[in-house]
Amino acid sequence: MKYKNFPMVPKVVFGRGCFSQLDEILMPKRKSDEAPFIFLVDDVFENDNWILSRIPLLFNDQIIFIPTDEEPKTDQVDALVEKIRQDATQMPSGIIGIGGGTVMDIAKAVSIMLTSQGSSADYQGWDLVKNEAIYHVGIPTISGTGAEVSRTTVLTGPDKKLGINSDYTPFDQVVLDPELTKGVPKDQWFYTGMDCYIHCIESLNGTYLNAFSQSYGEKAQELCDEVFYNGNLTTEEAQDKLMMASWHGGMSIAYSQVGVAHAMSYGLSYLLGTKHGIGNCIVFDHLEGFYPEGVAQFKKMKEKHGIVLPTGLCANLTDADFDTMINVSMGMDPLWENACGKNWKDTITPEKLRSLYEKM
Ligand code: NAD
Ligand code: ZN
Repeated sequence: MKYKNFPMVPKVVFGRGCFSQLDEILMPKRKSDEAPFIFLVDDVFENDNWILSRIPLLFNDQIIFIPTDEEPKTDQVDALVEKIRQDATQMPSGIIGIGGGTVMDIAKAVSIMLTSQGSSADYQGWDLVKNEAIYHVGIPTISGTGAEVSRTTVLTGPDKKLGINSDYTPFDQVVLDPELTKGVPKDQWFYTGMDCYIHCIESLNGTYLNAFSQSYGEKAQELCDEVFYNGNLTTEEAQDKLMMASWHGGMSIAYSQVGVAHAMSYGLSYLLGTKHGIGNCIVFDHLEGFYPEGVAQFKKMKEKHGIVLPTGLCANLTDADFDTMINVSMGMDPLWENACGKNWKDTITPEKLRSLYEKM
């Protein structure tokens, strides 16, 4: 057995209002007045002075607003890298991503590609990055994905949706300020929060489980239960706890794997563009055969918060469409192996997946 040796985020600051310390966090990392910081900011904050006024712009620093109606694409990353190279006379001092999983993943990918040749599509996979990325900082404004702590950045490329998994992907610094999540719309809060809950269920019920993953997964699940179901929390407590749940959920899967909901939602995302959080919820709602207790609890949380998931996504799909989704999903070997064991192909057949997709 060869064990994985993973890097972790080396610096993290947590606390309500700690975003205001960004200035002092970045100052020692500024290489020169010609080496700007590039702030990639979710465009939902385009007119949000509460956030923008605390971005410590100096010299040639730039804010680039990032649309988040679609998940990150390799050509989008390549275009950003090209623009940053053209605008700056020197390599930037760092990339700072302020937003949800979408913006954090783009920030990670851009920081890698600024020191690597070719297209980001060339690096989708495991350990293909050979050069250290430039300094990069993640500042989540919505909690759940665990992208702030993970070793991957998930990109959709010309022929696959796959992460750049590498030792250079994790952030050098993360700023966890739960106050930044205050404006998240309720449905989105639920979908992205449930991404974390589903990470826990898939990790804790997987064959890859070990004490490392279990310790983080159990804590994250406990926090999710408090936030979404049985805790009598103030808004502030709920924001704080969900931010830490996301962190622990991400840590849990770092040393294990996700499972059936993620494998199937990748299929939906690839064919229909369904976004990660809501896609996982749509799939997970039908997985009582795999995760009976987790799904029962999910349905209770859904009901408690009055969340109505879309239906009929697959109602008008052709046989070829179903085959595409099934192929994408069944291509995620490690996820299925984690969920169902080494002999997963004995039970997970195209027919089985089709019958599940038909319910969605
Ligand atoms: P997101 O980043 O797409 O954001 C969802 C929506 O919430 C957007 O409309 C955004 O504008 C809005 N939003 C975010 N913060 C807000 C705030 N404070 N106030 C108001 N609106 C706000 O959603 P997400 O669920 O965080 O991320 C999904 C992405 O994360 C997917 O692309 C997925 O592939 C990726 N992901 C990555 C990892 C990883 O380990 N790298 C893990 C899971 C998911
Ligand atoms: Zn996820």
